[in-house]
Amino acid sequence: MVSFLQGMKIVLLDLDGTIHLGGIPIPGAVDFIRRCHENKIKTIFLSNNSSKSVNEYVMKLNSMGINAVADDILLSTHDCIQWLKIKKWTKVYCLGTEGMKEMMVESGIECLEDGVDCVVLGYDTELTYEKLSKATSLIHQKIPLVATHPDIVCPSPDGGLPDVGAILKMIELTTGVQPIIITGKPRAEMILGRLKIEGVEPNKVAMIGDRLYTDMEMAKASGVVSVLVLSGEATQEDVDSYSWTPDFVVNSVNDIVFDSA
Ligand SMILES: [Mg+2]
Repeated sequence: MVSFLQGMKIVLLDLDGTIHLGGIPIPGAVDFIRRCHENKIKTIFLSNNSSKSVNEYVMKLNSMGINAVADDILLSTHDCIQWLKIKKWTKVYCLGTEGMKEMMVESGIECLEDGVDCVVLGYDTELTYEKLSKATSLIHQKIPLVATHPDIVCPSPDGGLPDVGAILKMIELTTGVQPIIITGKPRAEMILGRLKIEGVEPNKVAMIGDRLYTDMEMAKASGVVSVLVLSGEATQEDVDSYSWTPDFVVNSVNDIVFDSA
């Protein structure tokens, strides 16, 4: 049992391997989130999966008995949009799902076929050869490529499915071009941009996740408290052989207890 949440204002939570495994809540996770809320700690759910929209995530969490609203979801798509806004790029060719395009359009970014500032690649589970050809022809015309996140595979009960990293390889083999930026975890700005909006300092925030090289690297780079759970990908052996150790290592979120204030 580990207690460190006293004085914390926000807990950032990875989803797969931390809150649920293949859509089934990890024992104690729903209760952990409820206790966070009872203790006035805001929970924000982080995912690199840019194939789903915020609303789809809200429905997924609610169906697991987790109280969440749109504002509680932070996706790699948000980080990508934040980066595009800083760049003042408002016209993109979006190689992504309708859900991702919806988020772009809601943020004032037009999804067009031509005359675009860049090609944005997301986890396009609605990918067609036609969309892919359109993207590569734009890249051949020297239009820059941007990717929402680096994950090569998306975990599934049937083994890894091709994610953005795998599609990037295909584009690279076709055009010789690599993205000018890959947003999403482990990019610290994904967290820092949101904390700025929340007005909360990183030392009042904990990031809980199951991957050392994404969740924990991101926590370290952004200066928030790093909490590794062993309920997903990383094992104790991985921790022992890693170059640094997260602030806390617990079996699952169920092992995190709250100080009585
Ligand atoms: Mg995970």
